[in-house]
Amino acid sequence: MSLKDFWKEVLVKIEPTVKRANFVTWFQDTGVLSMEEGKMMIGVPTPFAHDWLKKYHEKQILDMAREIDPQINSVDFEVHSSLKGKDDIRKIDVKKLKTSSTKSVRKISRANEVMLVEGISSKCLNPKYTLDNFIVGSENRLAHASCLAVASNPGGYYNPLFVYGGVGLGKTHLLQATGNSILQTVEDSLVVYTTSENFVNEIVEAIRNSGTKRFREKYRKVSCLIIDDIQFLANKEQTQTEFFHTFNELYDYNKQIIISSDRPPSSLAGIEDRLVSRFDMGMIVDIQFPGYETRLAILQAKCQQNGVIIPREVLEFISENVHNSVRELEGVLKQAIAQSQLENSVPTINSVSKILQKLNKDIPLVTPGIAGVDEGQKIAARVAEDVVTEVSAYYKLSQRDLIGLDRRKEVMMPRQIAMYLIRNELRYSLESVGEIFMGRNHTTVMHACLKVKKLLKVDSKTVRDVNAVKRALGL
Ligand code: ADP
Ligand code: MG
Repeated sequence: MSLKDFWKEVLVKIEPTVKRANFVTWFQDTGVLSMEEGKMMIGVPTPFAHDWLKKYHEKQILDMAREIDPQINSVDFEVHSSLKGKDDIRKIDVKKLKTSSTKSVRKISRANEVMLVEGISSKCLNPKYTLDNFIVGSENRLAHASCLAVASNPGGYYNPLFVYGGVGLGKTHLLQATGNSILQTVEDSLVVYTTSENFVNEIVEAIRNSGTKRFREKYRKVSCLIIDDIQFLANKEQTQTEFFHTFNELYDYNKQIIISSDRPPSSLAGIEDRLVSRFDMGMIVDIQFPGYETRLAILQAKCQQNGVIIPREVLEFISENVHNSVRELEGVLKQAIAQSQLENSVPTINSVSKILQKLNKDIPLVTPGIAGVDEGQKIAARVAEDVVTEVSAYYKLSQRDLIGLDRRKEVMMPRQIAMYLIRNELRYSLESVGEIFMGRNHTTVMHACLKVKKLLKVDSKTVRDVNAVKRALGL
């Protein structure tokens, strides 16, 4: 079968599961560029299609492709603007694609699962997740160390291991990496990795077919059971009961259990107390959102892994402005790389700031008057003074000059930065910022903040300076 026919078949499978408008928008003019060693490279016409497909359809495409050819083990996407043109024969015009007219029910695909032994299957572990390529900072050090400990001695002291933290902070990475490591180091090991949704399905199936006792017995053969996102077991009483027994069985046989969740065991509403108390028996570790330094280190590591060189100031800029998750951090970096490849240029602060703008990454402003009132004002006032102190120290100015009326450029800029920090970081109202600076008008403050905000998007020196002051302030 040609690559084109193969892709057509995949698209025919996907079409009934996606809204027509979305299907046409995102799959139009796509094509398979290559298929090597089980890796299917899909060409897409725009960076937007690239990001969308990668984010929302990667797994589905892989599942569908594997239904046709089980040899395929990964898919990736590449932007090829030539696919927009008429002459590229690899692409498919999905508007003309002959698809099923009856919308079939979405099939539950188990294509990315492996059957380990009779009756026990696991989701495939992604080999890209390793304990080595997980960047360690103070926010995730304990979680990483615990995983290392588990990997070197499964079923030992840290059993169960419970890892919790917010979305996109690396839980799945750590869990799968630990599973990968056990597979490599422990001979004949059976590692089962599953999400709690999957686990529910399995238990339901077991209840229907073979009975739960056999299910439990089978699990004894497993060396390590990993359940990702356990919070989704909430209110699934029957599954919890069964999991409780499976847990005990595994635990008694010194089998390693690793669990992740978006919150600590004590906050897991809808999960039986006796299960929660089981989680408490081992090691509980959290992952916090990485601070600036760790974010920067992650970006540098990802650049190195991908063999791309991006100026440090651009990486600093991304670290500074992405605050939600490592996933988002990676996403912005990928977009920056994709875009620069497309334009054959090196990413700049300017180009990255456009990407961030598209993602709506502007710092929200608090309306005047909300921040810094009453009791809060006293505390905040002290902190505002800290900003003045730090900024003047950083620029080697006297504090009087900084807040005073001197209009020389070398004083104006630091002053504007100080105003910006007090307003945006400490959330003072425009009026209160004005007061600190010799009773200046709120429009002056607004003007200063906007100016600094603009500069932060285009000027690496400003980014560096603001970062340095923020770091000194512990912001
Ligand atoms: P979670 O399961 O907590 O939602 P993931 O494990 O899926 O998060 O992480 C999201 C992405 O960020 C993954 O691609 C992962 O490899 C990456 N990631 C997260 N933390 C780190 C880290 N400390 N070092 C390297 N990559 C990381
Ligand atoms: Mg996850």
